[in-house]
Amino acid sequence: MLKSHYCGDLRAGDVGTVVELAGWVQRRRDHGGLIFVDLRDSRGVVQVVFNPEWSRDAHVIADQMRGEFVVWLRGEVVSRSAETVNPRMDTGEIEVHATEARVLNASLTPPFYISDDANVEELLRLRYRYLDLRRPSMQHHLLFRHRVVKYIRDFLSARDFVEIETPILLASTPEGARDYLVPSRVHPGSFYALPQSPQQLKQLLMVAGMERYFQIARCFRDEDLRADRQPEFTQLDLEMSFVQQDDILNLIEALYAGLTAELRPELRMLQPFPRLTYAESLRRFGTDKPDLRYGMELFTLDDIVALSEFAVFRRAIEAGGQVRGLCYSGGSETSRRQIDELTELARSRGAGGLVTIALRREARLDALTEEDFRSPALRYLSLAELRGIVERSGAAPGDLLLVVADRAPQVNAVLDVLRRELAQRAGLIDDKMLAYCFILDFPLFEWNEGEQRWDSSHHPFTAPHEDDAALLDTRPGDVRSQAYDLACNGWELGSGSIRIHERAMQARIFALLGIPPDEQQQRFGHMLEAFQYGAPPHGGIAPGIDRTVAILLGESDIREVIAFPKTKSATDVMTGAPSPVPPKQLRELHISVTSD
Ligand code: ASP
Repeated sequence: MLKSHYCGDLRAGDVGTVVELAGWVQRRRDHGGLIFVDLRDSRGVVQVVFNPEWSRDAHVIADQMRGEFVVWLRGEVVSRSAETVNPRMDTGEIEVHATEARVLNASLTPPFYISDDANVEELLRLRYRYLDLRRPSMQHHLLFRHRVVKYIRDFLSARDFVEIETPILLASTPEGARDYLVPSRVHPGSFYALPQSPQQLKQLLMVAGMERYFQIARCFRDEDLRADRQPEFTQLDLEMSFVQQDDILNLIEALYAGLTAELRPELRMLQPFPRLTYAESLRRFGTDKPDLRYGMELFTLDDIVALSEFAVFRRAIEAGGQVRGLCYSGGSETSRRQIDELTELARSRGAGGLVTIALRREARLDALTEEDFRSPALRYLSLAELRGIVERSGAAPGDLLLVVADRAPQVNAVLDVLRRELAQRAGLIDDKMLAYCFILDFPLFEWNEGEQRWDSSHHPFTAPHEDDAALLDTRPGDVRSQAYDLACNGWELGSGSIRIHERAMQARIFALLGIPPDEQQQRFGHMLEAFQYGAPPHGGIAPGIDRTVAILLGESDIREVIAFPKTKSATDVMTGAPSPVPPKQLRELHISVTSD
């Protein structure tokens, strides 16, 4: 090796050692004869000093060094004098006195300074990702990600799981997104689909008798991107035979609790991880990925205001909707402008409006009068209703109630976003906590209004809840499934389910999804067939690795933990993907490109 030590590893204990170092020039300062170079490698930075009295040649070379030059040097580790010790550097107690040096490669002036302090525009970072990744925080993210994956591999290997690779060139596997297609050259007009997940293959591995499978699997989904989505992403995909829901949940709880305790010991968790049904989660938090780091639970006013003079409330209920709200503790003095902002936020999520009711600080809960309230709806709400609302919401004097009246999905969406926003504003979010939880009993189907048919909420291989099988033909919308999610701090980390393992039930579910027998045969014939050859009961889950790493690091954007992510418009600005290809290549693939 060109180096005997890493720059960032040198400490007082190394004083007196002659070392060979190689790395990148972080900074060079010329102090009248003495040249100081901060040399950086993957483990950190050390200060190197060049003095013409120790070596004229080395000093001449140091004089040529510039930022991001790759250099090699030999020198002795020396203690710094008390006044020059730098407590901000891990290597700040020592420096290296260089006696030999070589420039291994020069560098252009980089488009941004390689430092965590520099605030660089994201497109530029992605365009020069290889420079961006030199920054200490990005190096840390990639190293941390490696440790997460290693922990997972060790944990599962110790529990008899076998890591098995599955193909990337595949037939379409539905997870509810669009497929990325790959044209076949040898089969004109035919396409592979990149896997949206290895779902069917892992189930077939169970039929194959593997019993415990996992894979750090790349998945591809062509859908609209957000901060927590990429066109390709990584899942911890796992599947087990002869299990029930609790077996999977207990395994994942042990894995995530262990992972967190090992890699972020300073973070707290709610243990055991709370387990909520989907219905309960929507009722209490308006979402199936609740942030349980704070309370601020939703309340329901339907029974109190069903006959109200206030038409906004009454009509919502008459139309089959709901009137629900949340209590912003101490928020009664919220300014007009802030309330307008919150109303705007509510509108952006589809609410017709937002009704606020402020309870004066001086109010006495046992003797409430109309004077104690401030609300645009005050004229229409009776004192009895107002008292009922206060009691139901648990409001205290000085609180602000925010109430939404609409159809259930809108009410949930709006209150979810308001709850997150207000928790932020009120400083309720404990950033030293990872509040993992499981959400259970998802509905098996959801109604697709556009297509006028049922879709799977999870995927078509999910088993119906044992207690609800009787409802399959009569009330499919009410059938719960054996699907579950792992959520944390308001993010969905992963989904899974106990699967169907019998041909008849699988065919019945396909039929309910509106897939006729010939299409079932054509798309899923292999699954239906495999289930006839002794398929064991099985189930699994697939937490997202990118999200897991991001949440453990406290990052809100998964691109910060992916080495080479795509932009929000699914492009790679470094390599230029996706890009047009020469006509010859298209011809070989039997493809002609139209402009519409
Ligand atoms: N394949 C599923 C997904 O990607 C996970 C699972 O059911 O195991 O969401």
